[in-house]
Amino acid sequence: MYSLQDIRKDFPILSRKVYNHPLVYLDNGATTQKPKQVVEAMVDEYYNVNANVHRGVHFLSQQATELHESSREAVRAFINARSSSEILFTRGTTESINLLAFTFGEAFIHADDEIIVSTMEHHSNIVPWQMMCQRKGAILRVIPMTNLGTLDLDAYQQLFSDKTKLVCCTHVSNVLGTINPVGQIVRIAHQHNVPVLIDGAQSVPHMPVDVQALDCDFFAFSGHKVYGPTGVGVLYGKENWLDRLPPYQGGGEMIQNVSFEKTTYNTLPYKFEAGTPDYVATHALAIALDYVSALGMEQIFQHEQQLTRYALDQLQQIEGMTIFGHASHSTSDLAASMPSQGSTSAAFGHETLCSSDAVISFLVQKDGHYIHPLDLGTLLDRLGIAVRTGHHCAEPLMNRLGIPGTVRASFGLYNTVDEVDALVDGIRRVIQMF
Ligand code: PMP
Repeated sequence: MYSLQDIRKDFPILSRKVYNHPLVYLDNGATTQKPKQVVEAMVDEYYNVNANVHRGVHFLSQQATELHESSREAVRAFINARSSSEILFTRGTTESINLLAFTFGEAFIHADDEIIVSTMEHHSNIVPWQMMCQRKGAILRVIPMTNLGTLDLDAYQQLFSDKTKLVCCTHVSNVLGTINPVGQIVRIAHQHNVPVLIDGAQSVPHMPVDVQALDCDFFAFSGHKVYGPTGVGVLYGKENWLDRLPPYQGGGEMIQNVSFEKTTYNTLPYKFEAGTPDYVATHALAIALDYVSALGMEQIFQHEQQLTRYALDQLQQIEGMTIFGHASHSTSDLAASMPSQGSTSAAFGHETLCSSDAVISFLVQKDGHYIHPLDLGTLLDRLGIAVRTGHHCAEPLMNRLGIPGTVRASFGLYNTVDEVDALVDGIRRVIQMF
């Protein structure tokens, strides 16, 4: 039973007030709130178990190690990896991608090689590749986006050459909510014998993910976006790839033997995990994954889809509203109502197709001008409504849309129809103020 009333009791922060209004937290794309179970697990571990993991002979160390390693198994099961040695703990998606960019670059990239990314990537799936390209003299190729806010798969196929070494693509856009056909993206890359990294930061919190079914070679996500703690994330990699990559950082844990003459490295996954891991966070991440699994990822997906659909329907009734992405929900009236500011964004949002997730980016115009997203976000905040404004760490996508930024509402498993109504009502009030 998916009982929002019960679920919300697990998240004490949701009942606090902001500027004397009930908090309406719609910034889940940035980070999610934590259920009591997660916070209590962390407190309990610090109070009762805390000791450094691995190689400890004493009771607490063994217990902490057990919690840490069973968390790895929990992550493995959650994304259906073949083996827990394919699960690397990192600080988050960003570190996962930087790890891969460094180590894959060292092993496989030479001058003039090519890496494919997409137009709708978060900066953390662009900049590490640019840095690697700079180090290695390699070249970034970009999958263009259609006017529907989907990736242009025909153009994607044309990007491959015998220089292509890796494809890096987001599963779900953190701006448009577009769910990319990553299975197809992987299949096409594999036809060219090119491995694929999927950025799962915005998919893992919202839908079941099976890395074996996707057949991706690497997959990254962050704990804090899936109701877990900050400071922990995951890089999944197929064993046959990880085995061939050199270590990322050097230090304790990642070695087998060290001498001044020669150092040998540890086996997977420890080869990539230098230093003391955030073992309290890894345990708490496993508790978060237990939490969402108990609710059911399918149920969470259904709930958020319904909420998103409802929100889109309501938002579209606001005069002057432009929604980016979510093409199948838009009406052709929107095109007619576009301002004469010459934005190229008119085409976004009045076509069909484009499956989408619990993220809605929008702008509102009044008297032919967009209300600045920062103004809209700030005034919504005064009503207790937390949304995000700006470029959402996706400046190339903003350039493609021809806008500097948007307001973004992103939903989580605990959001309600009443909260969507509060958002819609809040936007209407803000429009009246202008
Ligand atoms: N990729 C995507 C699609 C994201 O939405 C985010 C976070 N906004 C990241 C990567 C980076 O995640 P983190 O900051 O947790 O490393």
